[in-house]
Amino acid sequence: MLRIVGGRVYDPAHGVDGAIQDVCIRDGQVVAEVPPEAKRIDARGMVVMPGGVDIHCHIAGSKVNMARKVQPEDHRQDVHLRTRLTRSGTGGSVPSTFTTGYRYAGLGYTTAMEAAVTPLGARSTLEELQDTPVIDKGFYVLVGNNVLLYRLLQEGRRDEFRQALAWWLSATKAYAPKLVNPGSDEMWKGQRNANVTLLDQPIASFDLTPRKVIAAFIEAGNDLGLPHPVHIHCNNLGHTGNFETTLETMRIAEGRRAHITHIQFHSYGSVAGKSADNPTSRARDIAEYVNTHPNISADVGAVMFGRSTSMTADAPLAYMLRRFGGGKWVNVDTEMESGCGITPFTYQERVYTNALQWAIGLELFLLSTDPWRMVFSTDHPNGGSFMSYPKLIRLLMDREFRKQEMALVNQDALGHSGLGDCQQREYSLYEIAIITRAGPARLLGLSSKGHLGVGADADVTIYDEDPDKEKMFSTPRYVIKAGELVIEDHEFRIDAEGQVFHVAPDYDPGIEQVIQPFFEDFYTVQFSNYPVDLSYLHHHQVIPTTHQPAGTGS
Ligand SMILES: [Zn+2]
Repeated sequence: MLRIVGGRVYDPAHGVDGAIQDVCIRDGQVVAEVPPEAKRIDARGMVVMPGGVDIHCHIAGSKVNMARKVQPEDHRQDVHLRTRLTRSGTGGSVPSTFTTGYRYAGLGYTTAMEAAVTPLGARSTLEELQDTPVIDKGFYVLVGNNVLLYRLLQEGRRDEFRQALAWWLSATKAYAPKLVNPGSDEMWKGQRNANVTLLDQPIASFDLTPRKVIAAFIEAGNDLGLPHPVHIHCNNLGHTGNFETTLETMRIAEGRRAHITHIQFHSYGSVAGKSADNPTSRARDIAEYVNTHPNISADVGAVMFGRSTSMTADAPLAYMLRRFGGGKWVNVDTEMESGCGITPFTYQERVYTNALQWAIGLELFLLSTDPWRMVFSTDHPNGGSFMSYPKLIRLLMDREFRKQEMALVNQDALGHSGLGDCQQREYSLYEIAIITRAGPARLLGLSSKGHLGVGADADVTIYDEDPDKEKMFSTPRYVIKAGELVIEDHEFRIDAEGQVFHVAPDYDPGIEQVIQPFFEDFYTVQFSNYPVDLSYLHHHQVIPTTHQPAGTGS
């Protein structure tokens, strides 16, 4: 039992905007009252928020391991020592499992969703997630280039398509379906370095287009009543002029729920007569569309300068980026399911494109009128490490600091962005609490996360107030996870284990008769060995599928 006394509480899900009030905790949950003998934390002069929720990051799975493997130098430079309570690991832009959990918790985050796992990689991903301490987690499963699903779709077998999608989500213990550059893997596999560039372009040998694929998944995701809708990495990521593809993709939803991820990487315009090396910002068009369409949500995928690792299931993109990274590069194809590529990368202030990307990320935040639907992410580690979150928060909250940083970047790029026009806006602590906690939790359909109402999971972060918001958000004074005081006076007091969230949508068992022969013909894995059984899950929770209203703001 615990009573957090006298803090300034930010709980946007209940409209609490900095009110001085107590938060009571019992048996891992927020409760209305605790007896007088309960342990007390004196939070006077401090800020109290729900634990942070990261809606999109890359922290486990085969591509993350590949990225760890190719960067031993990162590990040498950033050793995370073992302590009496916590285990050792390595940092860099792709930290080891233990370090990932501790460092997220050290920033006040208590939930993080791994955003791209091949179905074949589900088993090892769940084992890694189990090894990622403190935080709760789940993963999105890659289905947007799945050959069997494409066949069903091509043959117009829509009911079986939906049943098979439900089967795949259940068999892998995933949280949501993920589309990555739909259609690209078939092009990549079928023709040297090919990619899809238009939504109405045929996908290799299939009688399908990206538009048809995206529409079918959005429809199926909504029909299944998934807590989080289909999570979409649009076509043409990173390409000059791609904002039109992004707008068109959002239109495909036709009022149904869809989540567009790392939308910053999809908000680029072009200048007539100029080369593709000179993208411009179309953040205003993208923000305007999201602002006016409550069925659409997005995370920003902001870029922060410094070391990053590009890791993506978008194989053609990784192939393109290898030119810019200039160093190591890996591309992988995963049987009938997906592709992937990895390139270590450094974003530099003086490089035109990097500075433009940085500016567009900030613009999207500053132009958003509904923080519940334009939420926080750097697509860790693609746009930057999650360790850069406190600095990004300061950039949003502190106009003067933003101005100083703007003076350091490529000014030509800044001129091709609209960042100068949104200089007036500063995020409040209330809005920060929305984009980093309450908003992502609501978009994920995690009703016990991101708020401090009675019945919420007792995940609470307490910060010392500080005018320097980067400092404030870098080192929370207390972090409480599931009611346990994990960090006290900035130090770990216990080690803790999080849980895994997944969905288990109903499906007609008859669909297995359709899927099994395909495995026998094409997979290296026996059908019966493919589904992940519960022994891989340890602490887990099934989040029910229901028909929920769109994740709109309040
Ligand atoms: Zn991502």
